[in-house]
Amino acid sequence: MKTTKFCCESMQYHLEYKCDIHKDAFECPDNLIFKSKKNKDYGIIIHDGGNSFITIKFCPWCGKKLT
Ligand SMILES: [Zn+2]
Ligand SMILES: [Zn+2]
Repeated sequence: MKTTKFCCESMQYHLEYKCDIHKDAFECPDNLIFKSKKNKDYGIIIHDGGNSFITIKFCPWCGKKLT
């Protein structure tokens, strides 16, 4: 088994997701998860046209604590 920094495949998919059309994660409706590089917070992006996100402490898919 290879070591991974992701808790599950769903989280890996969403964190590594890159859109060809939208350069900014907040502009892409397909982009759900945001990881802050500053304080390492995880969040669910709210697509309200701004840069809002809800900070999450646990993975929405597998329920593991996010580190
Ligand atoms: Zn997970
Ligand atoms: Zn997009």
